[in-house]
Amino acid sequence: MSGSYDAAIIGAGPAGMAAASSLAELGLKVILLDEQFRPGGQIYRNIESASPESIALLGAEYDRGGTVAERFRTSGAGYLAGASVWQVSADGSLCYSHHDRSTQIHAAYIIVATGAMERPRPLPGWELPGVMGAGAANNLAKEAGLQPIGQVVLAGSGPLLLLESTLLLKKGVQVAAILETTAKIPSPLALPHLPAAMRRTDFLLKGLAMVQEIRRSGVPHHKGVVDIRCHGTEKVEAVSARAGGNQLNYPADIVLLHFGVIPSTHIFRQAGCHMLYNREQRYWYPETDKWGRTNHERIFAAGDGASVTGALAAEYRGELAALEVARCLGILPAYERDAKALPLRAALRHDGHPRPLVDAVFAPGPATWRVPDDTVLCRCEMVTVGQVRKVIGEGVTEVNEMKILTRCGMGPCQGRMCGPGTAEVIAEATGLSPERAGLLSIRPPLKPVPLGEIAAMELAESGSGPANIFKNQSK
Ligand SMILES: Cc1cc2nc3c(=O)[nH]c(=O)nc-3n(C[C@H](O)[C@H](O)[C@H](O)COP(=O)(O)OP(=O)(O)OC[C@H]3O[C@@H](n4cnc5c(N)ncnc54)[C@H](O)[C@@H]3O)c2cc1C
Repeated sequence: MSGSYDAAIIGAGPAGMAAASSLAELGLKVILLDEQFRPGGQIYRNIESASPESIALLGAEYDRGGTVAERFRTSGAGYLAGASVWQVSADGSLCYSHHDRSTQIHAAYIIVATGAMERPRPLPGWELPGVMGAGAANNLAKEAGLQPIGQVVLAGSGPLLLLESTLLLKKGVQVAAILETTAKIPSPLALPHLPAAMRRTDFLLKGLAMVQEIRRSGVPHHKGVVDIRCHGTEKVEAVSARAGGNQLNYPADIVLLHFGVIPSTHIFRQAGCHMLYNREQRYWYPETDKWGRTNHERIFAAGDGASVTGALAAEYRGELAALEVARCLGILPAYERDAKALPLRAALRHDGHPRPLVDAVFAPGPATWRVPDDTVLCRCEMVTVGQVRKVIGEGVTEVNEMKILTRCGMGPCQGRMCGPGTAEVIAEATGLSPERAGLLSIRPPLKPVPLGEIAAMELAESGSGPANIFKNQSK
């Protein structure tokens, strides 16, 4: 599928589906690409094939995905499932790999809606088989109906940790313990956000119901947990931690870690978009205007990839980006764009009332980063925290220099798993903010693609030539 489009959208989650539907309904030539094989993104994963039992368990929030996907399917937007985008240019061209063939297409506008990823948080034993993300376990359940077998320990912080705990309890999974790093008493910084959050009692009641469900189950639920360690030889066998001066030890066949979610920023960084740092949430995100336009005229950001605000907000932000793209393409006059945007912005505000409270309660503190030297930091290259600390001791405090000297971030995941952690280790050692350690430069291909496939690639007529594809556009 090579050619030219009015808009190319990357990511078939709520943001991407809403953007693609909106533009296609206006009669524009739109293509949506996603590396998954079905639309839905993270939250609505597999929604089109979900069983009634699964929908009943996951509730109305998941069920909404059916409506979003149905609108997308009937909108007339083109859809390429199983397509991994590995390069994006400011001129509107992008390259993707699909069924072992790479293709370059060109679009007047690109909306990047690649969502978020679980915050990778290195701790002793996190690389052992049997240790995985709580969100990843949630994905396996939605995708393939898989459940963890044996004793399960959930550890970390954030609403998704509690959500996954309650889902597992409802399914009768043996949960041995929940180890929350969130403080027992919320930070006073959260208090000023309570009145706004009270405007969404539905949201607060859902949170309370999850906590009660966990309490009723009788499963040990510790808060203010520090020093989480996974133990085992061939695979994980136990978890230890400390809470309130007590040593905690639990046998475990599966450990589900979760430390919140952070925007997936590789495409923005590779395309040379300006990045900003959220000091409270300790993550990078692309700088955008109120429509989601980045510093590149043709590249927009929508959804959790632009900053983490949840599924409904992702949908609204996808629509807003689409409205501005339609205006730029001469389909909507500015007054009509603004009129259509008004209810979306109101809905966005309403949806966002609890967000500052949630962000403050679950804010990732720097204290959670004191891990022992032998902890593996870069899982691709097996670089330890101690190796990185040694190089910091020699005066290196920037992540790209660290990568050159230690290979930390040089593996096939392109620093997705170790980039944020490396900055945190540097921050811990220097006493400065992690943003001072910088961001790893990202080069195409964003995903592993065989060289032969790239050499045989069809190039779009108006896209970048081969020489530009591999030019590093990161600043
Ligand atoms: C693992 C995980 C599980 C989650 N589960 C829940 C949940 O159960 N409930 C909840 O309320 N929130 C959940 N969230 C938060 C949730 O992701 C968001 O609020 C919501 O899905 C954001 O929508 P989005 O459209 O921005 O992105 P997403 O829904 O994340 O969709 C992004 C899409 O982009 C695609 N993509 C990414 N990179 C590329 C590329 N290079 N090429 C092609 N396609 C690409 C992905 O395959 C994905 O389908 C989860 C987050 C994570 C990380």
